Amino acid sequence: MTIVTRFAPSPTGRLHVGNIRTALHNWLLAKQAGGRFLLRIDDTDAERSREEYVEAIREDLAWLGIHPDGEERQSARSASYEAAFDRLAMQGVVYPCYETPHELDLKRKILLGRGLPPIYDRAALDLSAEQRTEKESVGETPHWRFKLDHARPIEWLDGIRGEQHFDPAQLSDPVIRRGDGSWLYMLPSAIDDIAMGITDVLRGEDHVSNTAVQIQMFEALGASPPRFAHEALLVGAEGKLSKRLGSLGADALRDAGIEPQTIVALLARLGTSDPVDAALDAAALAESFDLSRFGRAPAKFDEAELHRLNAVVVHALSFEEVAGRLPGGMDAAGWDAVRPNLSHVGEAGEWWQVVTGPIEAPAFDDETRGFLESAAQTLADLDWILEDDDPLPTGYSITDTWPA
Ligand code: GLU
Repeated sequence: MTIVTRFAPSPTGRLHVGNIRTALHNWLLAKQAGGRFLLRIDDTDAERSREEYVEAIREDLAWLGIHPDGEERQSARSASYEAAFDRLAMQGVVYPCYETPHELDLKRKILLGRGLPPIYDRAALDLSAEQRTEKESVGETPHWRFKLDHARPIEWLDGIRGEQHFDPAQLSDPVIRRGDGSWLYMLPSAIDDIAMGITDVLRGEDHVSNTAVQIQMFEALGASPPRFAHEALLVGAEGKLSKRLGSLGADALRDAGIEPQTIVALLARLGTSDPVDAALDAAALAESFDLSRFGRAPAKFDEAELHRLNAVVVHALSFEEVAGRLPGGMDAAGWDAVRPNLSHVGEAGEWWQVVTGPIEAPAFDDETRGFLESAAQTLADLDWILEDDDPLPTGYSITDTWPA
């Protein structure tokens, strides 16, 4: 069976470190198996989705060298959702609900106050056809829930977390559609995964309980669920979930002079027991990509490590790879000369200035100036060509052997 994976970002912001990792891992998983990696734009939330972010997501992926084999957009697929929804309604597995957000909030608070889990009580299932007609005649439009089958325990073998078990009775029937007809994430995602032939869903562990619900959706839609794997969340170097990580975008990393290869090398291995190796390219990373190497402990993302790794990557970049980003006049020999000093390609300008001058002398105090002048004088008087039998200048000794 061909492996088909997908990356499904909502275009409500730029890609950040966390979802770049998800994209990368799905791409590597597909690439390793000679499969396909698809991009799905989850833009059912018309209010929060922006075209500029759709563009930015495509650009950021391209910059990282992650090339999808196809693209779908949820906003273009409402006819499929409508058709699947009608089928589910016929089967009686979706049902209309009329509670206001305020009423739902109250129900939740009462349950929590009694020390009970805030699970939706399915009150809407008890409404008679007349009661529903009455509500609709006074302009109450229902939202819709998916009816979980309480008689079927939910189980899957997670590619990272191992055996998973959920009791559906401990979950609320999820709202799948709003009163205005718009879709929430859960059902369209399952419909699309079926339509796109997705074999493997790899995503963050914040989706584990969604998976439980979606497994029953796949079944209700007449499909067998894909394989699932959930990665531990990313935390900052200090070990805490960091706000900064959620906003550390591909654009910010690029502006900070981080090379795409650096991001790929670090994120490919983050959360696994394998060492990060800047020398590995995408093909080598794909070859060694292995879900069983992922641990369940939060993966630590250390920005300082990213910068250290970037220096290693920069030192290996050829002149051709960076020519367009170098200061005017800098040739291959110039790049080779300054490259070992750089952590970021952008620093080449300063070094080129050192090479080509003029250099502005810093303002020294009198003592430093005196010292530098006598040092310069001493150096000028030195005989730099030292023959084997030459006496050493006073104060010097040879403690080491000469290099051969
Ligand atoms: N749009 C969803 C998200 O960004 C997709 C989750 C999934 O991979 O199914 O969280």
